Amino acid sequence: MEIINRRKRMMSAARKLRREENRTIGFVPTMGALHEGHLSLIHEARAMCDVVVVSVFVNPTQFGPAEDFNSYPRDLTRDAALLAEYNVDYVFAPPVEEIYPPEFSTYVTVEGLSDKLEGAARPEHFRGVTTVVAILLNVVKPDFAFFGQKDAQQAILIKRMVRDLSFSAEIVVVPIVREESGLALSSRNNYLTAEERKAAAVLHRALSQARSAYEEGEHSGGRLIEIARATIEKEPLARIDYISMNDAETLAKVDKIEDRAALVSLAVFIGNTRLIDNVVLGKAKGHDVAVAG
Ligand code: AMP
Repeated sequence: MEIINRRKRMMSAARKLRREENRTIGFVPTMGALHEGHLSLIHEARAMCDVVVVSVFVNPTQFGPAEDFNSYPRDLTRDAALLAEYNVDYVFAPPVEEIYPPEFSTYVTVEGLSDKLEGAARPEHFRGVTTVVAILLNVVKPDFAFFGQKDAQQAILIKRMVRDLSFSAEIVVVPIVREESGLALSSRNNYLTAEERKAAAVLHRALSQARSAYEEGEHSGGRLIEIARATIEKEPLARIDYISMNDAETLAKVDKIEDRAALVSLAVFIGNTRLIDNVVLGKAKGHDVAVAG
């Protein structure tokens, strides 16, 4: 496994793999602090591609001024050891100046999608995400790039960006990996106390209840959201930021699930930690993957 810090070096290594060795490249962008959720993306990449490139880059442009950019967990030594165990071929871990040199001034925005849901709560967040992913896709030029359903809106925006701007990578979305309690794995779970961690299982419980109600015939967005809301409101440590039901491709609000997949997504504060989760209703989707907590 080679760890690369410079974008020129990453570009030339990837070019050689493609042109001289004719190998397919799978790319998994991450911010590090790796857990089983990231590893399932890598597992998928390993199964589909000849070469796996993982980036570890805490992207400053996707954090708001009051957010946790400085305190976000960083441990490249631990991450690199895990990635080597998973037979990753290249780790791209550039310093910030390598991605954003002085006078950097070009941003990518997916209009109409980037200001909804997470984007309404976190202005500029998705502009940072799509910009860094565009840069990384241009550096690595993978055949396939892997993203988690955990960040459903991010995956939707990236698919749209790739289509609109004709990136050659195919986007693969991998199901959410959860602890046994149902809590979706996230680097931010590290901020939770033991008591909060237990309480955080309410996000998945609420979404599962909405899914059961849907399967029993309740198709009204308003009522499905109410079911989820009532469950979360019973948990004293939880405070709802939003719960919403939107079209799983356009993010238009859905009042009633008919013939298109609907994304039920939520953001909930557990203590001071803001967690997100989602479920897709109305169309067969991959099942969540559970791992031991
Ligand atoms: P991050 O390091 O948080 O930027 O995440 C990197 C990638 O891992 C993103 O595509 C996430 O959606 C994905 N990811 C994070 N947590 C999970 C999870 N619990 N299950 C599946 N994918 C995940």
